[in-house]
Amino acid sequence: MNTATQTALRSRSVERLVEGVATSDGAGVSLTRVLSGKLQQRLDPFLMLDAFGSDDPDDYIAGFPDHPHRGFETITYMLAGRMRHRDSAGHEGLLETGGMQWMIAGRGAIHSEIPQQKDGLMEGFQLWLNLPARNKMAAPWYKDFQRADIPEYTTGDGVTVRVIAGSSNGVAGAMTREVTEPLYLDIHLPAGAGFSTAIPGSHNAFIYVYRGKVLVGDTPVESQRMGILSNTPEAEGVTLSATENTRLILVAGKPLNEPIVQYGPFVMNTQEEIHQALEDYRNGHLG
Ligand code: MN
Repeated sequence: MNTATQTALRSRSVERLVEGVATSDGAGVSLTRVLSGKLQQRLDPFLMLDAFGSDDPDDYIAGFPDHPHRGFETITYMLAGRMRHRDSAGHEGLLETGGMQWMIAGRGAIHSEIPQQKDGLMEGFQLWLNLPARNKMAAPWYKDFQRADIPEYTTGDGVTVRVIAGSSNGVAGAMTREVTEPLYLDIHLPAGAGFSTAIPGSHNAFIYVYRGKVLVGDTPVESQRMGILSNTPEAEGVTLSATENTRLILVAGKPLNEPIVQYGPFVMNTQEEIHQALEDYRNGHLG
């Protein structure tokens, strides 16, 4: 579909640029951890963003064998590649290029994420979204969205926007979540294009550029960089422009303002709840 975007929108600016840290997770998957640790407070309700992208199978072939989660949601968005998911609630799904998987771990899920390819490019993101205290022990939930299940629109400037969650310029996304109201867009700007989208004033927001370079006002955000967007009270959203072909994700959500206590794959509100999660996992009561 073709849609008009808001123009002359008062835009947030880039408060800070963040370079991810190269690390390894699962059984030896190389990735860049863009959001973790101290940024969890600033970017509440988001707990983690991992970017992965390699055409060397040694970087991804080991995958993520069985491991637990409790207390939050995981959103895996595949730009390229094939990954199979299985979990302790009996869900199984194949995640393919352009698709997305949304899992609410709630009180607990044990799952595996295993590549279904022996060569070629594997690229995408995993985002962790916190659950409010009252929903941390909810029943686990999971859904796969194939490429065609994610709504897309194209602007008059030729900007293509995939609406993974929330809504943008009147287009509702694949997922809507209460409380944290996440907005998650994959935005492709051709050289010379501009783009605006509204972001609720209450939300924390960031962009992560994975191809090219985008300008937010006068501030360039280069490829493989996160730009944390200012919480400017009078801003209505963000305006982006590109002088080269550029691709980025835009993520925003309403902060929970609750204590965050993380121990690896468990994110709760108190140390006692973390001890309980470990005990439940050891006793086989988590998945
Ligand atoms: Mn996982």
